[in-house]
Amino acid sequence: AAPLVVARSTALAAKRGLLIRNRTNFEEARNIEAIVFDKTGTLTMGEFGVTEVIAESDYDESDVLQVAASLEIQSEHPIARGIVEGAKEREINFDEPEHFESMTGKGLKGIIEGKEVLIVSPGYVQEKQIDYNKEKFNSLSEQGKTVVFVLIDNQLAGMIALADKVRESAERAIKRLKDQNVESQMLTGDNNKVAQWVAKQLNLDQVVAEVLPHEKADKIKEIKKSGKKIAMTGDGVNDAPALANADLGVAIGAGTDVAMETADVVLVRSNPEDVVSILELSKSTYRKMI
Ligand code: ADP
Ligand code: MG
Repeated sequence: AAPLVVARSTALAAKRGLLIRNRTNFEEARNIEAIVFDKTGTLTMGEFGVTEVIAESDYDESDVLQVAASLEIQSEHPIARGIVEGAKEREINFDEPEHFESMTGKGLKGIIEGKEVLIVSPGYVQEKQIDYNKEKFNSLSEQGKTVVFVLIDNQLAGMIALADKVRESAERAIKRLKDQNVESQMLTGDNNKVAQWVAKQLNLDQVVAEVLPHEKADKIKEIKKSGKKIAMTGDGVNDAPALANADLGVAIGAGTDVAMETADVVLVRSNPEDVVSILELSKSTYRKMI
C-alpha cells in the first residue's frame, strides 16, 4: 500500500502545481530544518522599477539611462528589464552597442559609440576603488533599493536606483515555517544593505549577501556540513548549482529550464508558501506508511 500512498500524494500535489521529480528527496523533505531562499524573484516580485537616476561629472540623467538601457536591452536580468522599462517610460532613444558581454553576478560590459560602458554592482565599484557618493548610495540602499553604477571609459557617469516589492506570500510562508521550527535564510547576489532591509520586512533568521553564483552553491555545502538538513529555493540559472547541492532543491515559478532540470521539486506558481506545503505533504505522506 505504501507506494500507492506516495503515488496518490504526488498526483494530488501535481494538481496543485507542486511537481515532485525526485521521490527520495521528497521523502526527506519532512526532516528539513532550514530553508534557504534566493531573494530576487523568489522572496520579492523580481519586478524592478527605476526610482532615481543620479548623474555624475558631465553627464545628465537621460545620458545615464540611455547608455544603461542600450546595454541592458540585451540582458534578461530583472534589473535589466527595470532599466529598459524606465528608459521607455521617459521616452529615451536607445543606441546600438558595438559590443556586448555579460559579467555574471557583477553586471554588463559593452561598447557604445567607441566608449566602454559598464553597468555594475556596488561590489565592483568598491573593488576597483572608484569614488562615488557614499551618502547617497547608503541612504538609497537602506530604503531597500538596489543601486547599480554606470561607468563610461572607467569614469563614474551615474547611479540608478531600482525598487522591487517583497511578496506578501513570502511573509506568510516564513511565519508558517517559524511555527514549525524551520529556519528561514536568504542568499543573494545583491548588496548587503538591501538584503538586510528585506530580511527585516520578512523576519528572516539569517542572511548572506553579495555572493557570486558559484558561491551560492558553496554556501549550501557549508550549511550542510554544519549538520543541518536544508532545502534551497530559487528561480534563476544562478541558483541551479545551489539547488543541486541542497538536501531538497526547489525551483520556483516559471523559472529557468536549468533550475527546473536540477530541482527535486518544481513549483509552478511563484508562491513561497508552496514550499511550506511540500514539507507538510512530505510529513503527512510518510506518516501514513509506518
Ligand atoms: P540575485 O542573487 O539577486 O539573483 P545576481 O547574482 O543576478 O543577483 O546579481 C548580483 C548583482 O550583480 C546585482 O545585484 C547587480 O548589482 C549586479 N548585476 C547583475 N546583473 C546585472 C545587470 N544586468 N545589470 C546591472 N547589474 C547587474
Ligand atoms: Mg533570482
